[in-house]
This record gives sequence, structure tokens and C-alpha cells, in this order.
Amino acid sequence: MLPNDTLDQWDRAHFFHPSTHTAQFARGEMPNRIVTGGKGCYIQDRDGNKLLDAFAGLYCVNVGYGRPEIAEAIAKQAAELAYYHAYVGHGTEAAITLAKMIIERAPKNMSRVYFGLSGSDANETNIKLIWYYNNVLGQPKRKKIISRWRGYHGSGLMTGSLTGLELFHKKFDLPLAQVIHTEAPYYYRRQDAAMSEADFSNYCAEQLEKLIQAEGADTIAAFIGEPVLGTGGIVPPPQGYWSAIQAVLKKYDILLVADEVVTGFGRLGSMFGSDHYGMEPDIITIAKGLTSAYAPLSGSIVSERVWKVLERGNDEFGPLGHGWTYSAHPLCAAAGIANLKLIDDLGLVRNAKETGAYFVKKMKEALADHPIVGEVRGEGMLCAVEFVEDKKARRFFDPGKKVGPQIAAALLKQNVIGRAMPQGDILGFAPPLCLSKEEADLIVKATVKATEEVKAALR
Ligand code: PLP
Repeated sequence: MLPNDTLDQWDRAHFFHPSTHTAQFARGEMPNRIVTGGKGCYIQDRDGNKLLDAFAGLYCVNVGYGRPEIAEAIAKQAAELAYYHAYVGHGTEAAITLAKMIIERAPKNMSRVYFGLSGSDANETNIKLIWYYNNVLGQPKRKKIISRWRGYHGSGLMTGSLTGLELFHKKFDLPLAQVIHTEAPYYYRRQDAAMSEADFSNYCAEQLEKLIQAEGADTIAAFIGEPVLGTGGIVPPPQGYWSAIQAVLKKYDILLVADEVVTGFGRLGSMFGSDHYGMEPDIITIAKGLTSAYAPLSGSIVSERVWKVLERGNDEFGPLGHGWTYSAHPLCAAAGIANLKLIDDLGLVRNAKETGAYFVKKMKEALADHPIVGEVRGEGMLCAVEFVEDKKARRFFDPGKKVGPQIAAALLKQNVIGRAMPQGDILGFAPPLCLSKEEADLIVKATVKATEEVKAALR
């Protein structure tokens, strides 16, 4: 093993970290953490710290760390056949089997799975398929995609545009012109305090309809949304939201993409968020929970409606010119099969529902009445605590005070990892789906202490 100081020096000199203040990092003004191992809900680092990872990496290590079943499946596949491509009808038993397992678990009317490597590339694929679909149908003007402010769909050119967070646009010349954003389904941050949740959902649907009419319905191809807003703040939809939105989309014949990169495979306590909220998507994006991040794999699950048009297009125009070298990579597919089996065998969807409900309830009991806590919210194994300067007036802290990041740092000092969400003072939790009630209690206790500590230091 390399000595820690050598590794630290190489890290700062050569490693370009994603989503990092690169200059501060290179100058050594911010800490690094070199992670060496993990078991269950805990990770370990080079300095000997053992941390409770209440964000499951980036809400992806759903079965928890250190599962030999998945490691062995990957090793076995690597020994037998590490790679073959999936172009022009090639495949492997692992990829074919996994596609079948996904369709068996997916909401009704889903037909085929296109495999990618990340949530971002899967959403890029989705938009290309949607453009192709409309061209085949003789609707070439239908190209615009509607996304929501605070939605997160990746950080590529198109997917970074779909993402409705300023940080991902600033100085990158994004969003691209074909992407437009509509109201975030964020009831706590509504303008009109008197509005009921149901009224707010109708308001969001009205805003969507106004946007469609202003742009011209014949120019809109699709609407993309996460069943629960994730990186934008971990916000479950207000009551009646998805039915109100879907009624508008149906009226104007606009496709729905459910981005289930976070919610797919159990995080909400249901196998898919679409089923959880009665969504009927035309395409579903999956990634993270598909392999619990033991290997990079994503997918675009395409409905029968879209699939039929793709077939028709290929008959007319030739084979689909879209593929990655690593589409349906057998090592990743082997990881996916072992992971989905583990989710079933360990009853993790049920645990996400039951222990998740316990976790959110305990967090609410502990913090909902706290003077700097505006809201505690959650669904399944997702939870968020939003901090405010003035609880009654719903007045937020000056972002410059960095209250959310300070509380996340205070939590980390207790060896618990939460995530300061990028827009607003919001502490997010998305623990592995195997979280126990004792671990949930630990997270709650540490969050209360961190909140108290930062509040005491506020001026
Ligand atoms: N979609 C959603 C809902 C996500 O949360 C993410 C990542 O957090 C992505 C897409 C992008 O996935 P990736 O980071 O694997 O590209």
C-alpha cells in the first residue's frame, strides 16, 4: 500500500475529481477522503475512520457494501467472458437474462431494455429515441423537451440541460435551446402560503399547460421527471401531482419519461416509483439501484408504444445508429442479476418501506418542531431536512452562510454521512435499503446534535 502522504500528493496533482472545487482541491484547501472498504451501511477510509453512509454513496449502493454474492458473480463472468459487444444482434446470457428480469419487475406495457453505463447516457439515449420516434411518425417539429426546475437528469450536454439546477448550467452555455423548464413540484417552497397541496398540484399542471400552449403543442416531444425530486431537494410530489400532470400530457399527446435512476428497484418502498405514484411512462430511465453501483450500468426501458415506432423506423430507414462500446457489458449485467436477486432474497423493497417509514417518522419527531427546521420530508428510504432562518415566515438563510453544508460537516464529525443538497439548505439522506432501525436511530441522533451545534454558532 502506498503511504498516505504519497497518495494525497498524487490525488491533488493528477486526479480531476467530478463536482469538486478543483482549484481549492489542488491547493490543498479542502480535505480529501480516500476510501478503502465497506460493509453493510458503513465505509472505511485510509485514516481508520468508520462512517455510517446515510447517502449510500450517491444514492446507489442500495444493497449495502461488501456483498460477496455480487463480487463473486462479477469475478465468475470475468473469468468466463469479460467482454463481448451487443451490436448487430450479439449478446451474452447475462445481458439477456438481466433484460428479462427488468421487464418482469417494470410497470406494465414496458417492452425492451437498452443498456448504457450511467444515468446521464441513458437519458441522452432517451432523448435521441424520442426525436427519432417523432421523425418516424412524421412530426419533425416535435423536438422540445420539458423538464422541471430542480429536476436532475445528469450532466451531459442534453442531460445537463434537462437538469434544472443553476450549478449545472453556469458557464457551460446550457441549457440547450430544445430544453424548457417548468415549475418544480416543491410544495414547501410555493409562493402562495394559503395554497393547499392539491391546489398546488393543479397549479403546476396549469403552468405546464400554459407553457405547452405558449411554445405550441406541436413542438413539444416529451416531459421528463423524477417520481420524487432527488438532487433538487429530495421532495416527494404534492398530493395529486402526477395525475394532474399526466392529464395535461395526454391531452397534448406528449410522451412521459420517468427518470427512475434513484427510485428504480425499491428506494421508495415499491419496485418502481412509477407504480408508487400511478405514473404511466413511455420510457423509464434506470441506473444506480440496478447494480447497487457494484458496476456501472444503466438502462432505458422502452414501452411497447415507442418500441413499435422504432421497429417501423428501422424497417423504413435502416438499423438504429446508436450504441456504446460497453452497452450491455457482461460484467455489469452479471452484477445486475446478482443485485436484483439479493434485493428479492433480502426483502429490501419491504425494508425500504418499513424501516424507511420508521426513519422519516423518527426524524420528524426529533426535528420537525426545531426553530431552524422548516420541513422534514421523505418517502421510502429517502429523507430530507430543510433548514430555515425564520420558520413562521418560511424565510430561508442567506446561501452565503452555508448552513446546510455546515450541518453536513457537523454530522460528518460524528462519522455519519448525509448530503448537503446543492440548492438550498437541505440535508439529504438516502441510506442503503438494508438500513436497520438502530442505524436509523443513530442517524437521527447525530442529525439533531449537528443541527444544535450549528444553530448555537449562528449569529
Ligand atoms: N437521473 C437522476 C434522477 C439522477 O439522480 C442521476 C444522478 O444522480 C442521473 C440521472 C445521472 O446519473 P449518472 O450520474 O449515473 O450519470
